Amino acid sequence: MNSKKQGLNTICTHSGAIEDTVFKGSVSPLYMSTSFDFMDVDTKRYPRYFNTPNQEHLSKKIAALEHAEAALIFASGMAAISATLLTFLKSGDHAVIQNDIYGGTRNFIESHFKNYGIEYNFTKDLSSESFEACIQPNTKLIYVETPSNPLLKLVDLFAIAKLAKSHQITTAADNTFASPVIQNPIDLGIDIVMHSATKYFGGHSDISAGAVASTQKIMDKIWDLAKDFGGNLSDYTVWLLERSMKTLAIRVKAQQRNAKRLAKFLEKHSAVKSVFYPGLKSSPYHSLAKIQMKGFGAMLSFELKKQYDADEFLKALRLIKPSMSLAGVESTMLLPSKTSHALLSELDRANQGISDQLIRFSLGIETKKDLIEDIEQAITVCNVKK
Ligand SMILES: *Cc1c(COP(=O)(O)O)cnc(C)c1O
Repeated sequence: MNSKKQGLNTICTHSGAIEDTVFKGSVSPLYMSTSFDFMDVDTKRYPRYFNTPNQEHLSKKIAALEHAEAALIFASGMAAISATLLTFLKSGDHAVIQNDIYGGTRNFIESHFKNYGIEYNFTKDLSSESFEACIQPNTKLIYVETPSNPLLKLVDLFAIAKLAKSHQITTAADNTFASPVIQNPIDLGIDIVMHSATKYFGGHSDISAGAVASTQKIMDKIWDLAKDFGGNLSDYTVWLLERSMKTLAIRVKAQQRNAKRLAKFLEKHSAVKSVFYPGLKSSPYHSLAKIQMKGFGAMLSFELKKQYDADEFLKALRLIKPSMSLAGVESTMLLPSKTSHALLSELDRANQGISDQLIRFSLGIETKKDLIEDIEQAITVCNVKK
């Protein structure tokens, strides 16, 4: 059955499953073999060729979710992103990179591009005009990430895809924060979609993985480099990832419901200065979100007023975990000024709108009233001017 015609939850549950023809078990068998017969076969299988049975099949689920022809699974989001960037950028090429991207991606570009002779510019802001202003005759790739971290700003994917096509430039989007449940960049004209599968795909904070999806032609190109870099995921973890992905849509939708409710709660709270969430009518990105997303996602951030100590607030939480990563079924919070953006100067942080009072909130699936109770009690504790 054509998976594009199937519903989201059916794709999550069934697409790309391996049929157990021997024992008729209900779930995909796990094939741990690293060695396969080479005689009389069409495909020579090997883990680093990304074509063991479990890798090949789970890739089909990811491609179906992103409305792509093909996909590859990697050992981390950065393995997927670095392989994609270096496939499309050679010595002498130029890339336009969105400002406000994931710290690891930014670090990869700033630390290593010069060694490959690759030129790049970070955009001034997230407007399409600012992307256009960076384009040069040797620009080969435009790189975007929307919603952005930690202020949940949006990039107009359709406008960027159109701009890039008019200059014959390839486009790549990091879709980690939205997940394919909320956003499909390929439908808006973007060429390549990347994921840190460590986040929503895994969803339980216990798997490191990455993925790239695109046309078969583009994926063949990425494969050609990726098989030599060797960033494939072990089949055992591929199998665990398949198990996680069966509940991707129901998890993300439950998390998103919490995000919407908590954003509204925080917006009305007297201790909160501002809330950043595209689902709020007050967000400058609300109308764009309604056009390009199928919801508003499960990440938000908010700023506590000055008389509340953000450090003490995080320490006082009993249910919500202060934690570095995101997207798990458990709610987590972090201070961007002390984690993802700690290496920037105070001035750079201020210019990006990241104050010491800013808290990033990754919503889990807990009961809303328990999350609210936890926040209320922590706010009482951290009020330094009671
Ligand atoms: C975590 C993350 C990455 C990197 O993924 P890893 O699995 O940690 O390598 C890339 N992009 C975004 C938006 C992320 O949140």
